[in-house]
Amino acid sequence: MRGAREHNLKNVDVDVPRDALVVFSGVSGSGKSSLAFGTIYAEAQRRYFESVAPYARRLIDQVGVPAVDSIDGLPPAVALQQQRGTPSARSSVGSVTGLSSLLRMLYSRAGRYPARQPMLYAEDFSPNTPQGACPHCHGLGRVYEVTEASMVPDDSLTIRERAVAAWPPAWHGQNLRDILVTMGIDVDKPWRALPRKTRDWILFTEEQPTVPVYAGFTPEETKDALRRKMEPSYQGTFTSARRYVLHTFATTQSALMKRRVSRYMVGGACPVCDGKRLKREALAVTFGGMDIGALAQLPLGHLADRLARATPSELSEEKRLAAARLVDDVLMRLRPLLSLGLGHLSLDRTTPSVSPGELQRLRLATQICSNLFGVIYVLDEPSAGLHPADGEALLASLRQLRASGNSVYVVEHDLNLMRAADWIVDVGPAAGELGGQVLYSGPPAGLRAVAASRTADYLFSDDAPARPAPRAPTGWLRLAGVTQNNLDRLDAAFPLGVFTAVTGVSGSGKSSLVSRALVDLVGAHLGHEPPAAEDDEDAEPDTMRLTGGHIAAGAESIRRLVQVDQKPIGRTPRSNLATYTGLFDHVRKLFAATPEAKKRRYDAGRFSFNVAKGRCETCEGEGFVSVELLFMPSVFAPCPTCHGARYNEATLKIRHRGRSIADVLGMTVDAASEFFADEPALARPLGLLRGIGLGYLRLGQPATELSGGEAQRIKLVTELQRAQRGHTLYVLDEPTTGLHPSDVDKLMAQLQDLVDAGNTVIVVEHEMRIVAGSDWVVDLGPGAGGAGGRIVAQGTPAQVAASPAGSGSRTAPYLAAALR
Ligand code: ADP
Ligand code: ADP
Ligand code: ZN
Ligand code: ZN
Repeated sequence: MRGAREHNLKNVDVDVPRDALVVFSGVSGSGKSSLAFGTIYAEAQRRYFESVAPYARRLIDQVGVPAVDSIDGLPPAVALQQQRGTPSARSSVGSVTGLSSLLRMLYSRAGRYPARQPMLYAEDFSPNTPQGACPHCHGLGRVYEVTEASMVPDDSLTIRERAVAAWPPAWHGQNLRDILVTMGIDVDKPWRALPRKTRDWILFTEEQPTVPVYAGFTPEETKDALRRKMEPSYQGTFTSARRYVLHTFATTQSALMKRRVSRYMVGGACPVCDGKRLKREALAVTFGGMDIGALAQLPLGHLADRLARATPSELSEEKRLAAARLVDDVLMRLRPLLSLGLGHLSLDRTTPSVSPGELQRLRLATQICSNLFGVIYVLDEPSAGLHPADGEALLASLRQLRASGNSVYVVEHDLNLMRAADWIVDVGPAAGELGGQVLYSGPPAGLRAVAASRTADYLFSDDAPARPAPRAPTGWLRLAGVTQNNLDRLDAAFPLGVFTAVTGVSGSGKSSLVSRALVDLVGAHLGHEPPAAEDDEDAEPDTMRLTGGHIAAGAESIRRLVQVDQKPIGRTPRSNLATYTGLFDHVRKLFAATPEAKKRRYDAGRFSFNVAKGRCETCEGEGFVSVELLFMPSVFAPCPTCHGARYNEATLKIRHRGRSIADVLGMTVDAASEFFADEPALARPLGLLRGIGLGYLRLGQPATELSGGEAQRIKLVTELQRAQRGHTLYVLDEPTTGLHPSDVDKLMAQLQDLVDAGNTVIVVEHEMRIVAGSDWVVDLGPGAGGAGGRIVAQGTPAQVAASPAGSGSRTAPYLAAALR
């Protein structure tokens, strides 16, 4: 590769071997992805499109032409990236791996049919086709309904006090209430005191009467107005709460509305198909004694056992041969899935409910069976979410791809994977402008001699870091009878006022315990709103997975709960670092306070790109315009009027110490920190951002360009700048994902400061360096899914490391090694 200049890359020349396992390393933001994905993969894509598609120009515009002079010897590339967007709820583990289609074939050709039932086609076994779907739930497996309790959570309220919580808020809700007033219903009586018939009608009727409405009138005045046949304010149409909720859920385009109404619905397995999503005829066909729906609900590990043991003796010779071939094929495809630590997943799990790391490994396992030859696989931190015990299997899979004649390029932070690589390309030395150079390209051992490399510091350091003695807890938070996913009436205790790491193999139940159960129970205790559904577009009522159990002790010592995750901080370029952290409010005030702005009467709102007065009208302050493409997702192009500045001419004329508001948004955190050194309100958050390793980000960097790890650290800083009163519980799920060890150290220093200030921190973590430095460890296991969900060891790191071999702690040996 010669002259690579994508993003921050500094005209990079580098030679990377083919048919090798190559790790791209470097601190977050140094340019690893820009090299591996933005240049190598993008160029391979471009050439591919050019060779196959007559309408290639359009596709090329979409992926972009990477800024590079030349690349020689480039084979076709396949990217296995961690998805940042949200995959569709209709796709599942079975469809991503291709296993579902094989099983459908198996059931169609070699299944056991009831007497006199004709043979079905493979599509008849798919819930995603009209032929196969259960006609009652349309293949969803669940039906959603509303009940009085779900729509009227507090029946001591009156209708005026919004007893019918499910009704729309604001004007529309008031309109519905006014209609009831016209109809002579008492809106000032507690809900439960109203007659059953009235309540049922309000909630469930399909009638939609239109009646005169006298807005702002009391019930008495309304009665009077009706009697005197006064001219009404308008004619209002009534909608029952049920009709409103179901109709909105089915038709709204707004993710927010969908989420709002979904709270008032209760879900349950479809009574016709029993949650199996298929029509009756399809479920009547069995193989090895099970219908295909039940098979799809089994964890993959059990599925493999089950199929291996199935001996369909009653079949004809012809069917038996077909069955044997298909079963062999399924088992062969299951093997890499099991060895990559995915045996706890079932085929019917929807992809949005699978973690990004698991999804990437699903795709990786699928590739291993694809028998491609001579391609470059480009992967993004495949170790994410993997316990060190599963790391060996990952390495074996990557080596298998290489052994079949492919090149495997991975962007990684995991030190063990780096040690095992054939070649390392270390990018740095620092992030953003201060990075973008290749510091080293060669076999791992040679990196030791590179003084500028931060990776070398960690890869070859032998001395264990100084570790203070574990802190003593100030109290205990005790959860009793926790039921969630694979946790069944589990009792768990978390020490307060200290740093706790929750460990265990992938699928053992760490997230279920910490990110679901703990957050649900403590949140409910603090009166938080139920957490929003994971992904807006596919929001589904989630009541089936409500956490069971209660807090037995310790709740009174927690005043606040903060969950810091890696979800994006916004989905449009309108949200950015400066707006999210609140920094921008201060900046706008500074601009409004300049003499020039005062003279023109520009207030702080003028300097917001979300307000019409000051922003560029062409792009409405986005700096980009979206270009719609036929058959393609639209792409963003710089605004032709403001060229990305986002503001109109008049606003840009205002200068604060010589800089326009657009100049400030273009500054990196490092530059802004220097520029605003005398503004305490800005210096503090900017200092925190630098301290956590984000000095290279621009203030106006759109949320859509930020990685999960960057978003997470921005959220943490936003939290850190709030007044520190202690008694807050911070919960983080794998905070080190996407972070270089040196960034991990910075993050940990901040988290330790939070504990020193009187707070509690609980993290789900695989990185043994972090676990070794914590005060307390809760280790789940022994296995994944049904074979996990128990606490197999707990105590200080030293105590857990000393767990006997029979305890079932897979973490103990790795932790012991890290403590040495
Ligand atoms: P790494 O993979 O090492 O974490 P990246 O290659 O993602 O680093 O980023 C390198 C630099 O390029 C960073 O300064 C980052 O902010 C910037 N960058 C990344 N993506 C984009 C983008 N889409 N547009 C502009 N700059 C980007
Ligand atoms: P970990 O965090 O230790 O990797 P999880 O808590 O994510 O484990 O998963 C524990 C078990 O619960 C696994 O068997 C997993 O498949 C199951 N599980 C997790 N999330 C869901 C979900 N949304 N729906 C159904 N099962 C789930
Ligand atoms: Zn059904
Ligand atoms: Zn513009």
